[in-house]
Amino acid sequence: MVERLRSEGIRDEVVLSAMNSIPRHIFVDEALAIRAYDDSPLPIGSGQTISQPWVVARMTELARNGRDLDGVLEIGTGCGYQTAVLAQLAKTVYTVERIVALVNKARRHLQSLKIRNVRLAHGDGSADLGESLAVDAIIVAAGATHVPTTLLKYLKPGGRMVLPLVQNDDGERGVQRLTVIEAAPAGIREQVFDAVRFVPLLPGLA
Ligand code: SAH
Repeated sequence: MVERLRSEGIRDEVVLSAMNSIPRHIFVDEALAIRAYDDSPLPIGSGQTISQPWVVARMTELARNGRDLDGVLEIGTGCGYQTAVLAQLAKTVYTVERIVALVNKARRHLQSLKIRNVRLAHGDGSADLGESLAVDAIIVAAGATHVPTTLLKYLKPGGRMVLPLVQNDDGERGVQRLTVIEAAPAGIREQVFDAVRFVPLLPGLA
């Protein structure tokens, strides 16, 4: 899988070795385990999907941007696969999931890998989290139609948010693109990258 990711343009060796160290088949149902290393999204229950490996690698690479990460906030834990990858790169990973069945599933997966530097919460990541966090990066793992500005206050100066954002102004209405929002001292900077397909970021708990 890592060789393929490298050939598909993932350059950050720290990200590649983190992905190499996490067994992806643990995170999908047994019947799908044989497809766990394919480059495709797979169902994880509750109508949600585990992101394809390339997307996980690319988002992590964009979030890291070559830096060591202290804290990372992830919105949309799903089955916990990207959480586990992030836990290899960051000192602490804070992750929030709105569907309680997936919170429990992710908790089981992370425990089975003895990953202990993750704080997992059942919550709505499109709203205020009611916490005082200061992280180097935020990864939003669900498609947003606008930048969730309530989260920007959790970024340290120079921190980066990576999210699939619907870009309506590039002539391709409705296309989600990986977007990096940088909290630079001079203000907010937005950079647009690859086209992707994510399940939507939804409000409220389930
Ligand atoms: N990276 C995940 C992919 C998760 S799919 C993995 O490796 O499995 C996106 C997830 O975002 C879904 O589980 C969905 O329930 C969750 N989600 C959507 N809107 C959310 C919100 N407002 N707050 C928290 N989680 C949300």
